[in-house]
Amino acid sequence: MILHSVALEWFRNYEGITVEFAPGVNVIYGENAQGKTNLLEGIGYLSTASSHRARYDRELIQFGRDHAFLKGALSARGREFVLEARLHRGGRRQLFSNGVRLKRAAELSGVLTTVLFCPEDLDLIRAGAAERRRFLDGCISQLRPRYGEALAEYRRLYEHKTRILRDYGEKPDLLDTLEEFNVQMARAGAVLIHYRAHFVKRLREVTPVIHREFSGGREVLELRYETVKNIPDPEASPRELLPLLLEHQNSHRRAELETRQCLSGPHKDDLEVLIDGVSAKTFASQGQTRTAALSLKLASREIIQQDTGEWPVLLLDDVLSELDAKRQEFVLRRITGGQVFITCCGDMGISALEGGRTFRIQEGKIVS
Ligand code: ATP
Ligand code: MG
Repeated sequence: MILHSVALEWFRNYEGITVEFAPGVNVIYGENAQGKTNLLEGIGYLSTASSHRARYDRELIQFGRDHAFLKGALSARGREFVLEARLHRGGRRQLFSNGVRLKRAAELSGVLTTVLFCPEDLDLIRAGAAERRRFLDGCISQLRPRYGEALAEYRRLYEHKTRILRDYGEKPDLLDTLEEFNVQMARAGAVLIHYRAHFVKRLREVTPVIHREFSGGREVLELRYETVKNIPDPEASPRELLPLLLEHQNSHRRAELETRQCLSGPHKDDLEVLIDGVSAKTFASQGQTRTAALSLKLASREIIQQDTGEWPVLLLDDVLSELDAKRQEFVLRRITGGQVFITCCGDMGISALEGGRTFRIQEGKIVS
């Protein structure tokens, strides 16, 4: 998978740029606050129709403007694609693939696949389960359109059920619809659990190998998928999972009505990370946290390659500067193969190694 070029207009601090990239390593360097991360964010948006750091699309539109346009040209699976995103302040965004308007973001799945690693990814290890679910959801959505659809459906139902539980005191009629929501949620939830379990199985094969090598052979990393408690085998088919989910919902029905919260379902799933047998979330050092987070990301990149036969585009934001020389070298060795974008404050001489290109960014412009 190769991203040939990107054009951004009124996106973050870019008034209007068009950039042609190298198929290997692209180093994007410049001083702080010049637009390096914004460029990776733009590429990420074309891939997933979401930003890794903006909660709302309107944050991506340049201050004082009402629209932002993003366009990317790429080759994937032997075909050429032009992806476009048009963001409007106060309006719905529009996505296009080869000129055809997409109805849902899930339709982007498998077009421009990317794996992003940024400083915030330390939260992948340290923060609550939501961050790890986000990681799983992001990876699996890119591989399986059906997953993205089930996820969107599950979220919609979850919000609705949450409102029912919150408001049924004043409007007891709402409870009439609860059962229907439960069944639909269990259906979508069974799909999520099935796919998550299979993805984690692959992660468990690939990540520990990367982590061991990355840590100089010193550390052992383990992963565990935690889901709804009464499920003995989350890898089972959605059809087999469904009755178990319904049973779990039933046993939590009273508690849900009392606490007025949605207590049963995969929205509470977690991916537990252990280093040398203890919880990384609680005990890992800075360096261990960074190594484990990066190992997970590199593993997801390799799984996508195994699954699709193509390397996803790797976006490394501010990663190398934080690593010692040995670990930098490990990363650079591990990422040969696909197209890579690396941001850093100085041109670290990486592109020369890989025969790639360097771009210097200043105030939202490419200056060399
Ligand atoms: P660092 O090295 O510190 O990570 P960077 O080059 O990655 O810096 P970016 O995160 O890309 O910097 O941000 C560059 C600038 O973009 C910031 O000064 C920020 O104020 C500006 N910016 C962010 N959002 C918008 C927006 N919607 N409109 C205009 N400018 C914006
Ligand atoms: Mg940055």
